[in-house]
Amino acid sequence: MNLVCRDVAVEYSCGTQAVRPVDGLDLEVSSGELVLLMGPSGCGKSSLLSMLAGILRPLRGRISVDGLEVTRLAGGRLTDYRRHRVGVVFQAFNLVPSLTAAENVEIPLRAAGRGRRQSRKRARELLEQLGLGDRCSHRPGALSGGQQQRVAIARALALDPPLLLADEPTAHLDREQVGRVAHLLREIADDGRTVVVATHDDRIVRLADRTISLDGAARAYSRTMTKPVASSTRAAARARSAPSSGAARASLVSSTVVPSSSV
Ligand code: ADP
Repeated sequence: MNLVCRDVAVEYSCGTQAVRPVDGLDLEVSSGELVLLMGPSGCGKSSLLSMLAGILRPLRGRISVDGLEVTRLAGGRLTDYRRHRVGVVFQAFNLVPSLTAAENVEIPLRAAGRGRRQSRKRARELLEQLGLGDRCSHRPGALSGGQQQRVAIARALALDPPLLLADEPTAHLDREQVGRVAHLLREIADDGRTVVVATHDDRIVRLADRTISLDGAARAYSRTMTKPVASSTRAAARARSAPSSGAARASLVSSTVVPSSSV
């Protein structure tokens, strides 16, 4: 799986102003990589993940996954991309409280038209792989935060997507649970998937192949002007790639994403 972003920008309109948290991002990520998006709150991590997930359309630029131009998809093809090519894990787990762990994992399978039996089998297999084989019949309320997050990861992997996106997946977890979820994300990448994680959590960094710092302050524009009006503006959305202590399988290609060794 090859994920490529070229000159990607996103803009939100707020009354007479527009905010552009990501502005001119270039990025390339390959299969087997665990890449972290880091930076202060509001720097555009969630926005970038939403664009990669095909949920948010960029103002400009191109995002492609294995040559499929996500930014051009619409209708059924976009639904198909979201369903089969990408799995998303949220900070707040977003499990359905009235359903068991297995039933939560079955949701995307049933939505994709898989039969009840086949869906149940796949859900149980996944939960077993994630160390939750004995928790299939538990409802989320009877699971720890770390267990709930692993159920959410199982649900995101149900349709075997090549790309897994996670937004602050350890924000609500205690120290031990963070370690387990972090190692799980590493294993998922080692299985050959591409894993992109927005996080503030330094404990995930040592397991990652790369960190991308979205350190450009969000640009605020007057909608009638072409230049930023915010005094805090830096070279917005300049992403800095810092190989972490692990093997740096970096393949950054743009002048706006530069290895830390060169800055
Ligand atoms: P992060 O995930 O790094 O905290 P976000 O991507 O959530 O950053 O937000 C980046 C910037 O875009 C912030 O300044 C935020 O206020 C703004 N923003 C995000 N979503 C919206 C929206 N729906 N409408 C207007 N502004 C938004």
